[in-house]
Amino acid sequence: MEIYLDNCATTRVCDEAAAACLRAMTAEYGNPSSLHRKGLEAESILTETRKTIGQMLSCPPECIRFTASATESNNLAILGSAAARPHGGKTIVITAVEHSSVENAAAALEKKGYTIRRVHPRPDGHFAVEDFLNAVDDDTLLVSFMMVNNEIGTVLPYETLIPALRRKAPKVLLHMDAVQGFTKYPVSMKRLDLDFLTFSGHKLYAPKGIGVLYIKKGTRLFPLAYGGGQEQGLRPGTEAVELVAALKEALLLCQRDGRLWETKYRALNQRLREGAAALPRVSVNSPEDGAPNIVNLSVLGIRSEIMLHFLEEKGIYVSSGSACSKGAKSPALAAFGLTPERIDSALRISFSRETTEDEVDALLAALEDGIRRLRPVIEKNGKELP
Ligand code: PLP
Repeated sequence: MEIYLDNCATTRVCDEAAAACLRAMTAEYGNPSSLHRKGLEAESILTETRKTIGQMLSCPPECIRFTASATESNNLAILGSAAARPHGGKTIVITAVEHSSVENAAAALEKKGYTIRRVHPRPDGHFAVEDFLNAVDDDTLLVSFMMVNNEIGTVLPYETLIPALRRKAPKVLLHMDAVQGFTKYPVSMKRLDLDFLTFSGHKLYAPKGIGVLYIKKGTRLFPLAYGGGQEQGLRPGTEAVELVAALKEALLLCQRDGRLWETKYRALNQRLREGAAALPRVSVNSPEDGAPNIVNLSVLGIRSEIMLHFLEEKGIYVSSGSACSKGAKSPALAAFGLTPERIDSALRISFSRETTEDEVDALLAALEDGIRRLRPVIEKNGKELP
């Protein structure tokens, strides 16, 4: 039995994407820069995928650049903006709960003399538009914020934040890391006036190694690497055509599934929350109005890793915080105001389109078993329970 509930870390590649990937590797294997038919065949995969993404984001296909990951896209947006505006502002506004690819890119600029302002969630765990507006001034170059937090699922108020920032500071660049939100919530570049938007293939049933960066027409950005001029010079290197082919199929699948997922996720979310409420000393850390596919909870008194491996023995895979942090204490959970006890025992459960109610029930039963078996051992070893 294998129950995979770590879909915010990565997803199983869908069959359609895997088939497209294989086809591109074994049949449509030309280099898209080659002038012959095999090259054109490969190039048309890039063109078609750009069109699909353009339709989904309501933007021209030329605004889409392929990268190797959302990490790379985030770095390109942040470091590339700073490089493109050397005489522009020297302040960058981010949130205190960003993924390390945004936090560390900003921190690298901080070392070069930039000021980084980190907007914190309010005590209720939500972000206030006003706090972003107060963080922006004449020296601000860029505001970069995530759409959905990857650890507890908080949805940022991007629908109101973007127009409010545009009104207050029309010249400031705006970047949204939409890795955990794109395809779950509608995202239209006609409605959201962003300069940059990032997402990643492997979070939505495409393989690892393909990221996307949307760049608004007219927004200048400098590349981080130099080479053959691919991706309009911004991301040189032969494009990973097979991954781009897979991405298109995965996106079409997400589109076909539509918002059905939201109802499905809501039902799973409620089932898990109700079940968790009946377990001793379990508390849910995710907000009620967060992304329904993410439930972060703490089994107080049992360290995350211990419960994670106990569940693993039963074939159930969850995460202790975000996969990238590999067990390191999460600064984001602390910024959300979670106590150290809660952070130490936090588990992130994240659903996919394939998750079933039976799997949620199996998780709840395994958690109950874990609490029954692990608690006495921990207590006997003299470790105090909070
Ligand atoms: N941004 C967020 C919000 C994420 O959750 C992740 C991955 O967990 C990333 C960026 C990085 O994505 P990638 O693995 O494609 O580099």
